[in-house]
Amino acid sequence: MSVQNGRPYLAIPGPSVVPDRVLAAMHRPSPNIYTGALIDLTQSLMPDLKHVAGTDQNVALYIANGHGTWEAALSNVVQRGDTVLVLGTGMFCLNWGDMAAGLGIAVETIDFGNRSDIDTDQVEAYLRADKNGRIKAVLAVHVDTSTSVKNDVLELRQSIDRSGHGALMMIDCIASLGCDKYLMDTWGADVTVAACQKGLMTPAGIGIVYYNQRADAQRDRIAVSRYWDWRPRANAQEYWQNFDGTAPTHHLFGLREALDMIKEEGLEAIWTRHKRLSQAIWTAIEHWGQDGAISLNIADAAKRSCAVTSVQMQAPNADRLRAYCEAEAGVTLGIGLGRDPSSAYFRIGHMGHLNAHMVLGVLAVMDMGLKALDIPHRAGAIEAATQVLASSGS
Ligand SMILES: *Cc1c(COP(=O)(O)O)cnc(C)c1O
Repeated sequence: MSVQNGRPYLAIPGPSVVPDRVLAAMHRPSPNIYTGALIDLTQSLMPDLKHVAGTDQNVALYIANGHGTWEAALSNVVQRGDTVLVLGTGMFCLNWGDMAAGLGIAVETIDFGNRSDIDTDQVEAYLRADKNGRIKAVLAVHVDTSTSVKNDVLELRQSIDRSGHGALMMIDCIASLGCDKYLMDTWGADVTVAACQKGLMTPAGIGIVYYNQRADAQRDRIAVSRYWDWRPRANAQEYWQNFDGTAPTHHLFGLREALDMIKEEGLEAIWTRHKRLSQAIWTAIEHWGQDGAISLNIADAAKRSCAVTSVQMQAPNADRLRAYCEAEAGVTLGIGLGRDPSSAYFRIGHMGHLNAHMVLGVLAVMDMGLKALDIPHRAGAIEAATQVLASSGS
């Protein structure tokens, strides 16, 4: 007989856990979309969304998931015949490049593989060699959700600047926004794309594109479809222009509540919470895997995401463990995305609305699974994880 019944826990890297406060805020009759509370509420989101990304620049919203923001952002700065440079550190940035290819844009890729971050010296050299400015934009992810690597965005900016190249720097921070520190303006990103269903704790449906004046200048050079055009959205004169049609009414109430929660806790505190909880997860995995059967995908702790952790086991143990945790204990772990064989990888999502009891619960359930399935591991990981949390606290 399983011990699964109770509150299920989706511990995958997006969608994340939606707080009851956000769900409650969405539970209401449809609001008027021409006058009334929704109009002011929508305006109130903009400064808070900018604050979360560390920017004073422009923000355009779309009824879209992350893939939609990829296309939205590209559509405003590059067009058929242009070239972009993709910096691959896992599946997500490569897929962003694939989106560009589908738009008729030439894609050049430097692939750093599945276990490391961007080598910015290579980027600098690559851009230096582009004497005629063929490359219009550099595409990178802050956190790649398949490998759980975290790239140093400021270092990337500095390498582009050193090369003297004028390409835009476009950053996907869909997985990291509201989890890992991200400072768009200080780090010099020209475009940042994000979505509401990860660190922002709201059901998927609002895509966010931030852009600065440098990026907006490219917008003049090209033809942009009315729907993707970011200008009327970022500078809406009439309410319908915010979403080029009907607004995602209930999502806006949910996102308002989520941003209130973020304000109440404070960004610094949120980043620290994610860091401490991540350290507990890393410690448990390192402890289990001291004989090598279980290991973290990213060796250097400074280059690990604090929102998602990618883990390696012997195939097919990752699949077995995931199935066990879901069926036996109500915990759903993430699949090993973009890896071969996928049954040797899984991911733990730890983004947004979560605390120590949730993370320790996930780890303890995994510990239970390793025992039940006779997967080789070292005992004592939960003890090690609680020790880390106990000693990093106030
Ligand atoms: C989740 C994610 C995406 C894709 O978002 P969807 O909402 O699933 O389209 C893109 N990039 C990163 C880094 C992500 O984590």
